[in-house]
Amino acid sequence: MGYELPELGYGFDAVEPHIDSATMEIHHDRHHATYVANLNAALEGNGNLEGLSIGELVSKLEALPDGVKTAVRNNGGGHYNHSLFWTIIAPGGSGYEANASSSLKAAVTEAFGGYDEFVNEIAAAAAGQFGSGWAWLTKEGSGALKVEATANQDNPLMTGSGTPILGVDVWEHAYYLRYQNKRPDYVQAWLQAVNWTEVSRRFAE
Ligand code: MN
Repeated sequence: MGYELPELGYGFDAVEPHIDSATMEIHHDRHHATYVANLNAALEGNGNLEGLSIGELVSKLEALPDGVKTAVRNNGGGHYNHSLFWTIIAPGGSGYEANASSSLKAAVTEAFGGYDEFVNEIAAAAAGQFGSGWAWLTKEGSGALKVEATANQDNPLMTGSGTPILGVDVWEHAYYLRYQNKRPDYVQAWLQAVNWTEVSRRFAE
């Protein structure tokens, strides 16, 4: 038993040209698979943690035994973050105007002023994250939205900031084959592939 690598639900080439097929295959089958394998190995002998969803596990990071805390932070975070990441990109893209729910649009307008301003904020957060990490659209406990960035495989569940409903991976493994050092170009392309139907569903939870 243990945590399992989720199926993508679409082909590796499904989000071309924004994200290339080779990057998708390596990212899912090697990087994400390694986080899952390392997480399961680290949790062996900690039967009291069995049965927790990956979101529940990373949410209680601070309460975990010291012997597994770092492994859960890095590899559990990696598993949670990538599991979210695959679901919020869609074959053929899924435009914001046509697919975001009215309640999500209202919250985006309230928080940022509108979609274009949201794009500017998350692009700036992604560009400004030094080294590896993620930029997030986070739903706070109040229901309000905010943009933030975290290092490595940390995420808003771990920090208590809120629930991530969109996250863009800015580790070089997410973009280097096609975009090399041009992280901002990758982020703009990635935003064209966002599945706003799924982001709306997560916002409504
Ligand atoms: Mn990644």
